Amino acid sequence: MADIIQLLPDHVANQIAAGEVVQRPASVVKELLENAIDAEATAIKLIIKDAGKTLVQVIDNGKGMSVTDARLSFERHATSKIKSADDLFQLNTKGFRGEALASIAAIAHVELKTKQENEDVGTSILIEGSTVNCQEVVVTPKGTSIAVKNLFFNIPARRNFLKSNAVETRHIIDEFHRVALAHPNISFVMFHNGSETFNLPESNYRQRIVNIFGTKTIEKLVPVDEDTEVLKISGFVGKPEFAKKTRGEQFFFVNNRFIKSAYLNHAIGSAFEGLLKDGAHASYFLNLTVNPQTIDINIHPTKTEIKFDDEHTLYAILRSSVKHSLGQFNIAPVLDFERDANLDTPYSYQQKGTPSVEVDRNFNPFQDKQIPGKQTTAFKNQTTANWDSLYVGLESKGTKTQQDFSEVHFESDNKNESIFDKDNQVEQKQSTYQFHNKYIISTIKSGLLLIDQHRAHQRVLYEDFLKNMTIKEAMSQQLLFPLQLHFSPQEIEIINQLKTDLEHTGFIFQTIKGELVEISGVPVSVPESEVSIILEQLISDVENEVPNSNFSATDLLAKSLAKSLAIKTGQSLTIIEQEHLVNSLFACKEPNVSPTNRATFITMSVDELDRKFV
Ligand code: ADP
Ligand code: MG
Repeated sequence: MADIIQLLPDHVANQIAAGEVVQRPASVVKELLENAIDAEATAIKLIIKDAGKTLVQVIDNGKGMSVTDARLSFERHATSKIKSADDLFQLNTKGFRGEALASIAAIAHVELKTKQENEDVGTSILIEGSTVNCQEVVVTPKGTSIAVKNLFFNIPARRNFLKSNAVETRHIIDEFHRVALAHPNISFVMFHNGSETFNLPESNYRQRIVNIFGTKTIEKLVPVDEDTEVLKISGFVGKPEFAKKTRGEQFFFVNNRFIKSAYLNHAIGSAFEGLLKDGAHASYFLNLTVNPQTIDINIHPTKTEIKFDDEHTLYAILRSSVKHSLGQFNIAPVLDFERDANLDTPYSYQQKGTPSVEVDRNFNPFQDKQIPGKQTTAFKNQTTANWDSLYVGLESKGTKTQQDFSEVHFESDNKNESIFDKDNQVEQKQSTYQFHNKYIISTIKSGLLLIDQHRAHQRVLYEDFLKNMTIKEAMSQQLLFPLQLHFSPQEIEIINQLKTDLEHTGFIFQTIKGELVEISGVPVSVPESEVSIILEQLISDVENEVPNSNFSATDLLAKSLAKSLAIKTGQSLTIIEQEHLVNSLFACKEPNVSPTNRATFITMSVDELDRKFV
């Protein structure tokens, strides 16, 4: 029998290795940024196109490579960072496997330009799918530029496996944050599709955090500092009252390397015990410095996991120093988060506490035809601000007003008529009752109907928003004075991604610049005073949802807006409001469940009731 075992050709081996190192554009970002840091750069520029699917480029002013090194850098296991296995225990660099560039070059089109300080000219190399197509002498500034184009061009399956641009961009920004937070002494800029998304000058740690997460972060940070023999801790934790529902702002760095550790995260959680609202997560930005010989970072190729020699001690020190900081610094609320919106809101047409001032919020001197005006005034006496939102679907039809609501026919009207007990003469006066300001009771032919008002209204709003986003002609309520809201750059990025869909629901963005968003119009259903809270909720929902594979911006937006705007449990409703909610619910395509798939109503048949009375 002939021998059948063969050594894999290098380019095949590289492709296989690439699968481990490069999962998505964000992996390339991480590897290139880390190489730039290892090269002692003081200024690093990241350029992204199409969420990294078309281009990831990192330009640094580091030490560059010689001609030979430039060519060698693409060989597998070629590294300048360790020479022997012993060095693995003294690591001061990010990279050490010598795998990244070889892997990336196996699955993309790579252009390298590099020059060392004392040289007159540098080297340029073009390499595609591990094949060097061109190597020449070029004039180029000191440092290295690596452009990675068309990632996974030769592995279509991998390319198709990539998530939406929104999701891939989030992963890239996460990596960028991690590297930028670990190195405040290095300046970073990031461009996405030609526009500058981050500009982080060299600064101290606190300033770096603020530059990334927005000026409003300043007041949230409590410093943590501890210096023990085994562990040095420096950094900040977020004040408990600013804790968010997302885990977004949780960063551990061990010897300047971002790591994930559920165990150490738990230590922080237990230091915050009793201080956080349900479901809220503490934010933290903590640098741990330990002796490199007491950790092992070599257990995973993407290197965010780490093994400590003495985890228990680290846990105890971390927990007690965070506790100490929280106790030492006054952690009482400085600013009530709920009221933040009003501070940001110059004019609130909805304010209930000012009875002497009557403002028609639909009045707009710049608009001749006040289409939505009539609709919202008709029910003025019976409705609360939130209640207007029930009529969103009708308003989008443009011609109907609330006065002639009774004439509006829903697609499913016929079906409803058979469900509801119209023949029952007694019920004609009042066909619904509200119960505990939570449920609406109505009768149907076969028995009783119990509707959860909050979930039912979410369903109604959700379908309305989805429809508006599809037909793209939602009504806007123009604001006399544009709202100015402040967000962190990361939040701005999310708003930019959702901008088109938000516009279809009725939002009008005047400017989105730096940390400032100016809004000159909002959906008719959205009270101006709640815009800030609604957008915060939306951003938090997006951040929570991104890791899920079935992320759809439109759906998520509709869900989030519906959740924020739906009438709440505890809100009392007039009979007309109750009836309208019931009618609107059963006009929905899927009245049975809320947007998050929970029952909106239950029925109880006469038979069931009879049985209870035996
Ligand atoms: P590793 O970082 O694990 O050593 P890489 O494949 O990422 O492996 O890089 C291979 C080698 O190429 C590095 O060891 C380094 O010598 C060189 N190199 C890569 N990027 C740069 C850069 N931006 N500036 C200077 N040298 C670099
Ligand atoms: Mg590297």
